[in-house]
Amino acid sequence: MNFDAALPGIARAGAHEASIVNALTIDVEDYFQVSAFEAHVRRSEWDAMECRVERNVERILALLADANVKATFFTLGWIAERYPTLIRRLADAGHELASHGFRHERASAQAPREFLADIGLAKAILEDATGHDVHGYRAPSFSVGASNPWAFDAIAEAGYRYSSSVYPIRHDHYGMPDAPRFAHEVRPGLLEIPVATVRVLRKNWPAGGGGYFRLLPYRLSRWSIRQINERDRQPAMFYFHPWELDAEQPRIPGVDPKTRFRHYLNLHRTAPRIACLLRDFRWNRVDAVFPIAK
Ligand SMILES: [Zn+2]
Repeated sequence: MNFDAALPGIARAGAHEASIVNALTIDVEDYFQVSAFEAHVRRSEWDAMECRVERNVERILALLADANVKATFFTLGWIAERYPTLIRRLADAGHELASHGFRHERASAQAPREFLADIGLAKAILEDATGHDVHGYRAPSFSVGASNPWAFDAIAEAGYRYSSSVYPIRHDHYGMPDAPRFAHEVRPGLLEIPVATVRVLRKNWPAGGGGYFRLLPYRLSRWSIRQINERDRQPAMFYFHPWELDAEQPRIPGVDPKTRFRHYLNLHRTAPRIACLLRDFRWNRVDAVFPIAK
């Protein structure tokens, strides 16, 4: 397989100018399913929670349609099983469906066989719902790192062609700061496409979305992605969640102040910032930016 031929996803913008097309991704899970709330909302309670994922995905679809952008939706099998109509809507709108596992358990918290079963189940449910092969997988909380390299064997064994499960930064809950920053073949036939980082003062800094995108000024995200496109000449892998656009989501009780700060700050700013990102850069679904992933 020739990975080099597909990288780094440069598309012609005009007669003289080549501009990089970046990968836009959405991790489709509801507000009560995030890893930071694991201790507060048990999986057995999920069925009883008010679900808001459908309306939040609809808002994202409207933003993407306005900007004429296609994206990749890393979707939980649990969500796909309950909302098959939503999954078909995403596929019909031209977006790529990819997998976020079935029950949003960190790869690092599972035994290899358990992990393989979870990611295989999610793939089968998504393929049933769309009628298309599912090629991409992202581990909950970027939970593939130095402690569990076996996870890449399982992702390849389950039949995925690419993974976006590593965040090459230092963080208290995840991260693998020494991992390669850009797409690379991590197992035969399996591409790992890490979330975007920017290299400053010989360190990797987060540039690919999540809490940082809401907490820090937008211009910092814009500067970082420009650095990646213009200096590194690479596409950026960016992600956000449907619940990050939902300032009115129910508050989970008993959450510690740091987690509360990270989850709830600036939720009202996400949608306008995403609109800015869509305007300031070129975006497409992962399997179009990295054609080898098809
Ligand atoms: Zn997640």
